Amino acid sequence: MAIAPPRGKALDELRFANSFASLGGAFSERRTPTGIPGARLVSFSPEAGALIDLRAGEERRLEFAELVAGNALLDGMEPVAGMYGGHQFGVWAGQLGDGRAILLGEVPAPSTDDERDAAPGKRREPVDTWELQIKGGGLTAFSRFADGRAVVRSTVREFLASEAMHHLGVPTTRALAMAAGDEPVLRERVERAATVIRMAPTFVRFGSFEIFHYRKQHERVRTLADYVIDRFYPECGDEADRYARFFTAVVERTAALMAHWQAVGFAHGVMNTDNFSILGLTLDYGPYGFVEEYEPGFICNHSDESGRYAFDRQPTIGLWNCYALAEALSSLISKDEIEAALARYEHVYRATFLALLRAKLGVLDARDDDADLALELFRMLEARRIDWTNFWRALSHDDATALTLLGDDESSRAWLERYARRVVDDPRGDDERRAAMRVVNPKYVLRNWVAQEAIAACEAGDDSVVNAVLDVLRAPFDEHPNREAWAHPAPAQYRGLSVSCSS
Ligand code: AMP
Ligand code: MG
Repeated sequence: MAIAPPRGKALDELRFANSFASLGGAFSERRTPTGIPGARLVSFSPEAGALIDLRAGEERRLEFAELVAGNALLDGMEPVAGMYGGHQFGVWAGQLGDGRAILLGEVPAPSTDDERDAAPGKRREPVDTWELQIKGGGLTAFSRFADGRAVVRSTVREFLASEAMHHLGVPTTRALAMAAGDEPVLRERVERAATVIRMAPTFVRFGSFEIFHYRKQHERVRTLADYVIDRFYPECGDEADRYARFFTAVVERTAALMAHWQAVGFAHGVMNTDNFSILGLTLDYGPYGFVEEYEPGFICNHSDESGRYAFDRQPTIGLWNCYALAEALSSLISKDEIEAALARYEHVYRATFLALLRAKLGVLDARDDDADLALELFRMLEARRIDWTNFWRALSHDDATALTLLGDDESSRAWLERYARRVVDDPRGDDERRAAMRVVNPKYVLRNWVAQEAIAACEAGDDSVVNAVLDVLRAPFDEHPNREAWAHPAPAQYRGLSVSCSS
């Protein structure tokens, strides 16, 4: 009897290239990570590992921990720190990074059986590769006044949130694994150094274009645009209008991303243009927060004194950032084309947000007063400070559960009756509809207090909580009866937990 070979590749069978590094020294600096000696592997995402065809179990090898901690490289890796600038809190800040993230290389995604069977050359598809980037791997030429390190606190938050957002269905960069060591790192207090390996097809940001535009290096803007279009937006074609088509696509992806954030209740916290992915992915998890008690003006970043990045301003800021990108691409695209592209934003945002809301409400068709039905609900959730995630989950069970959560009074009953009229002619029937709602309305999001529990344990050398939280977030639509508490708002001792920008 033949024994099937193990699925996936061993670590040393992964084949790395680095197309971004090939753009040359104007775009990045060659830089070997400064590792954290003696660091331990804290956690690993099996789903992220599968994206690069890493064989299950490889994460238990010492070589893997060494890679994640920045102590070793794999064959073919050509580490570089990419250069970018950005608008911070609305102000052009010049060159910003990358001060502590080092791109190690890119590895092909495994092709699926379908792709292998498809006739070659029929349609141009985006290049299917994953870049691996280490964050916290020491100084680079762009570190400015900082130390190139990341701490356990911020790394646990980035690692868990990246994977949580993916499993919630939100476009995001991914996280393969994290490591932590004993090296002290000074923030508001002395903390410990940690690293995360992130993954995305590319980490090019809006600010990657801005830096060259403001330096009047328009040829470099074009080179970078060609690189991104050829690899990730091949549908934009080869004609002169490819840049306008590319910009339009970025605007649309950004608008759609903002709709996802609003629907799931995610506040990013630092929507600077250096933190905006050219692929429309959630990028750079810092002082983010998931909305708990529903408050439209929720500010998760306590350094954001003016509330520029408050939860309900995110769609507007997403558009503001698209204007900033338009400026950076203005040597390639005409004014009229820019205006036409930007005009797509509101339409795509509204359409995507409404579609996501309808799925949350469990309605199949679109009706004119759906937005009003939702608005009436939002006002009630706000006035009563109801937990965003818990409300939608309650509504996905039955009206009685939703009524208990809202508070049993006339206006709650009135809204639920209006909702009942809205779904009365759904051919699926109540049970089937609510079951469908439970696969779009999560039971679990990464609440800051839960992240804090994982961080405290990890800082004390116990990684089991990080891993247990990851396991729940890998299946956020399932019930996890022994982790019921993590579905609830913060217990009293965690109330008012504030998250700083420092990381
Ligand atoms: P952020 O607002 O966290 O996205 O940070 C802005 C930029 O500051 C990043 O792109 C980094 O290049 C840089 N930066 C932040 N923290 C550090 C650090 N500890 N060491 C070096 N650079 C950093
Ligand atoms: Mg950043």
